[in-house]
Amino acid sequence: MKKILVIFSFLLINFISAHTCANETVKCPIDGYKVTFCVTMSMSTHGSYKDFQKVGAIGTYYEELINTCPKCSFSGYLSDFKEKYTREQKYLLKNYLSTIKNSKKDEVEQCIIAAEIKELLKKQNKEIGFIYLTGSYFLRTDMSKSELRINLQEKVRNNLVQALANREYELSSIASIDYLIAEMNRRTNKFQDAIKYYDLAINNKDKQDWVEEVAKEQKELAEKQDPNNDL
Ligand SMILES: [Zn+2]
Repeated sequence: MKKILVIFSFLLINFISAHTCANETVKCPIDGYKVTFCVTMSMSTHGSYKDFQKVGAIGTYYEELINTCPKCSFSGYLSDFKEKYTREQKYLLKNYLSTIKNSKKDEVEQCIIAAEIKELLKKQNKEIGFIYLTGSYFLRTDMSKSELRINLQEKVRNNLVQALANREYELSSIASIDYLIAEMNRRTNKFQDAIKYYDLAINNKDKQDWVEEVAKEQKELAEKQDPNNDL
């Protein structure tokens, strides 16, 4: 009976919020300070924005992806907090973190620090690109920070272009990444570059099924020089 109740209440939570997460506390790899992540257990999505941000009852999914140590500002995914760093890497990280002002960081600042840490540690460009992309999602509708949003999207584009050059993606993902590069170009007013990358996506014979229709639709916006970031 007790087991049934537990399952029932879990489902109930699920039904009401459709997003559930469970706390996991880890130690900051720099100073051992405790940081708690709420790891997403379930959520229901229905589609995504045209820049891959998930839509649906996703609660604080994106907010919980990346966290920051309140003491030293080390930032990253849960896996970054669990990773073992060498003495040299810790030295690099401490040096970098000492340049950051000690204050409460908003979601975008957390992403920027996490991405810069991965740059410092020479992680894959696709990883770095997707952290900047997450940061840009938080600024989707904030007109007062559109300059920062564009700056992040340019970093996404640069990292994804580099990731393709480094052959970090499987063949079946390349068209999707070309499409995302096109979207970043369009959203940052680089319409000619956007059209070039939409065409690469459309003409790629290994593309996933959804790519052709969406890329053609978005290419029309680029041809009209429309940098709309709301979609
Ligand atoms: Zn710390």
